[in-house]
Amino acid sequence: MGKVISVFVPKGGVGKTTTSVNLAASLAVAEKKTLLIDVDPFGSSAIALGFTQDKIKAGISEVFNYTRSLSFAIHKTELDYLDFVPSNINSIQHDEKFTKTSDNRVILKNALKDLREQYDFIVIDCPPLFRGITANALTASDSVLIPIKCGHLSLEAVDKLFNYLNWIKENSNPKLEVEGIIFTMYEKGSKVTEISEREMNLRYKDYLFDIVIPSSNLLNEATFYGKPLCLYKIDSEGAIAYLELAYKILKNNSSKMITSENISTNE
Ligand code: ATP
Ligand code: MG
Repeated sequence: MGKVISVFVPKGGVGKTTTSVNLAASLAVAEKKTLLIDVDPFGSSAIALGFTQDKIKAGISEVFNYTRSLSFAIHKTELDYLDFVPSNINSIQHDEKFTKTSDNRVILKNALKDLREQYDFIVIDCPPLFRGITANALTASDSVLIPIKCGHLSLEAVDKLFNYLNWIKENSNPKLEVEGIIFTMYEKGSKVTEISEREMNLRYKDYLFDIVIPSSNLLNEATFYGKPLCLYKIDSEGAIAYLELAYKILKNNSSKMITSENISTNE
């Protein structure tokens, strides 16, 4: 049964979409069957994967409106092992309706029930807000991966997030775990980096990955070509960092995962 990981922190522009897209692509490169679901009304993951509106037959909003099944909204990508459910919101009115229906926190969890068997990993790109859509994603997830950009405001967002995760655990998903915290847009040697690292180590040492995602313009550049960085420049520092993150997550979950490979070796 596939592991569901939400990529979330209640702060905008910290690398949630970049991490969701590049982690999902890196898991797919490792031949793990992966589904990336975008639940952010801005739909940035679609742009990062080169999907224009005309290529989208249905998306997550139809799932929340009960007009389409989640499996109907699945799109194939350039990577054999990566499938994608876009967020196809294109009007504010639609966004409001989407947000309202998502107040029912179990819509996504129920929609995923039949699909989890088909994937090794399901990665969910969340919006930066505490609201219905995010509560839905966290209720449907086994864990949350927290990307943070070095800087004081991001650290405050992590404190708020941990309070929110406790609320989700008490109200709709007692089994929710923290996959880990990963520094993004990391600039080695800067004062802000040094302070952020010190603070994070004091408060959240047990959750911190021992690798970081470096600041790299190529991660931004690749989105203009609609590609994850591993398909644009696989030998770049950024692509390697996301492959390493995928490897760490695979390693941390290896004992819990039941994949087609270890089913056949057990027989
Ligand atoms: P939002 O909350 O608005 O959805 P987000 O948290 O999803 O934002 P991204 O869209 O992933 O953040 O990233 C914000 C910007 O930073 C984008 O332009 C992206 O290309 C850039 N970016 C992300 N990661 C890096 C990195 N490691 N190095 C340099 N630029 C990056
Ligand atoms: Mg985003």
